Amino acid sequence: MTYKKATSSDELVIFEVPNKIIANFIKTKFTSTIQDIVFNITHEKPKVQINVIGEKRKSKKEILSEQNSSIIPENTILNQSYTFESFVVGSSNQMAYNASLAVSNKLGIQYNPLFIYGGTGLGKTHLLQSIGNEAIKKDKSVIYVTIEQFMNDFTFSLKNKNMDHFRNKYRKCDLLLIDDIQFLSGKEETQKEFFHTFNELHTANKQVVLTSDKLPSQIAGLEERLKSRFEWGLTTDIQIPALETKIAIIEKKSELNGIELSKEIIHFIATSLDSSVREIEGLLIKINASADLLGQQINIELVKNLLKEQIADKKDNIKLPNIIEIVSSELNIKPSDLKSSKRSANIVNARRIVIYLARELTHNSMPDIAKFLGMKDHSSVSKNISKANELIEKDENFRLNLENLKNKITTK
Ligand code: ADP
Ligand code: MG
Repeated sequence: MTYKKATSSDELVIFEVPNKIIANFIKTKFTSTIQDIVFNITHEKPKVQINVIGEKRKSKKEILSEQNSSIIPENTILNQSYTFESFVVGSSNQMAYNASLAVSNKLGIQYNPLFIYGGTGLGKTHLLQSIGNEAIKKDKSVIYVTIEQFMNDFTFSLKNKNMDHFRNKYRKCDLLLIDDIQFLSGKEETQKEFFHTFNELHTANKQVVLTSDKLPSQIAGLEERLKSRFEWGLTTDIQIPALETKIAIIEKKSELNGIELSKEIIHFIATSLDSSVREIEGLLIKINASADLLGQQINIELVKNLLKEQIADKKDNIKLPNIIEIVSSELNIKPSDLKSSKRSANIVNARRIVIYLARELTHNSMPDIAKFLGMKDHSSVSKNISKANELIEKDENFRLNLENLKNKITTK
């Protein structure tokens, strides 16, 4: 990939790549990362343009006006590496996988809609796009969008009096894949439009697949009629993978990326990262880059250092109030109760979880945590951490609950 400095500027960064596949891949996966990197240097968020070498180049004016108008491309951009073959199946995702496969074999006939929900970085988009990639092979017309793209497209079409075009696009496809539907929350106009889109497709036996980070019934600010429709077909969840599945995922991903990892390293990664597959993938990319670009030997020391970096980066972004906010809302406890001296069992449990996660996910010391929670001194913090460690060992529910909360906090 060449960085074309001559034509890039603070407001527009241009890359040239050899083909469309790479262009789409970089566009979908790295646009915001590139924007963030440039922003850190120039303090201006640029537009990003990926050119395919040899294709006619658009003028800067054309590119800027296209991106400002947030037109959604007609054709669906699917990540071609998200397939059923590259998805590792384990008990945490077996049902979601089977349902996706079933839907993909019989579009619009079984499980309509299919609703996949679960924490961040656990494979929802991967499965959703696997269904899309299969359907494209069978020449079906497929639309994949995040609900935010749907909303932008809707608002744009409304503003430009182009609703016929919008409806033609969304109501005439064979398969509509909508990612992260939880963001429909509170968007009344879009909900109305989506309701009609859904009905039209469903009546015509066209397949709809939706993903969300929570169950339809738990999405606040979602119309009842939509909630009930989302539950018409099949609702299935994806959980955090168990150790063996994580190991299998690491083996698969490293094989796909052409990295060789020893059993020791694989086991180390699988036991160190426990709340999201995306995190595991992030580490593998770092390992790959260190080996490939810096010519470093892949050994356990390197992996430990990279992991340490990754954890430190994560800690930079997590603050005690984030933890309080998520734990209290997930466990249905008032934030003020966590800081009080109340001793009812659910409050004691939630406070223990906050303390444990604060120590693991932030840079705060035990005295910092004690002070923040209004506790006498750090010895009670330390007691809570010991107790939490004990529960992790012997209470499977406690451990799962903790991992889910960690997933929510670290991926927010
Ligand atoms: P979500 O949409 O649930 O946030 P993604 O589908 O984006 O998560 O998954 C995050 C990353 O982890 C993707 O690159 C995906 O390929 C990978 N991944 C998640 N689960 C699996 C799995 N079971 N097998 C292989 N890769 C997986
Ligand atoms: Mg996703």
